[in-house]
Amino acid sequence: MRWKGMILMLLMLAFLMAPSEGNGEAAPAVGSAEIQAETAGSEEGKYVALTFDDGPRADTTERLLDGLKERGAVATFFLIGQQIPGNEALVQRMAAEGHQVGNHTYGHTRLKNADDQTILTEVAKTDTLLRELLGDGGYWLRPPYGQISQQGRSLVQVPMIQWTVDPEDWKLLDAEKVYQAVMKAVEPGAVILLHDFYPTSVDAALQVVDALQAQGYTFVTVQELFELAAEEAEPGCLYRAPGKAGYEY
Ligand SMILES: [Zn+2]
Repeated sequence: MRWKGMILMLLMLAFLMAPSEGNGEAAPAVGSAEIQAETAGSEEGKYVALTFDDGPRADTTERLLDGLKERGAVATFFLIGQQIPGNEALVQRMAAEGHQVGNHTYGHTRLKNADDQTILTEVAKTDTLLRELLGDGGYWLRPPYGQISQQGRSLVQVPMIQWTVDPEDWKLLDAEKVYQAVMKAVEPGAVILLHDFYPTSVDAALQVVDALQAQGYTFVTVQELFELAAEEAEPGCLYRAPGKAGYEY
């Protein structure tokens, strides 16, 4: 049995590693981000991911989606499950417009010291809602407050992501200050944390998009940022960005 299993695995590996059919040349991996970069005249390698937590919220999230669409920018939304009922159309719009949709637990629960059952339930309830709305997919998790224990991570079947730039928009509640804080810290490959729950954060985000696009940046989803870095994000692993392991908060 063991040998049979090994042979099967080797056959599968050989199949996976075989060159693809066609003209004999592997097709370059062209993601939507690269297409966007070409059309927008952006500079190579200047990619950045805007991420929004704590939505959806009818008025603010809709205004943000309008603004991002106008600017040809995509982002990643980590949704609180209990806010999805009533906002289904907004969530579907996110996916339809190329944004990445992720999980921010059902009730914005601090997972750091939560027991296994709570972690599993909090993640699964939102995951189920997202699957019902958007179909099967890997809905990445952003643990509330960026906090999840080693034990907790081992229960999670998707990659987990924190951030590299935190302007503390929820504390500042001032679009200009949030904008300045982001601009001071941003660099290629950054994962920026904002909350579409606050009107001031929506204003700041759109200002950031305008300013960074003018500097040659292209906005991509978190998943695209990993793809562009040719890095496989592993289920059960916590990251801050491609090539950057998660922090213990
Ligand atoms: Zn949150």
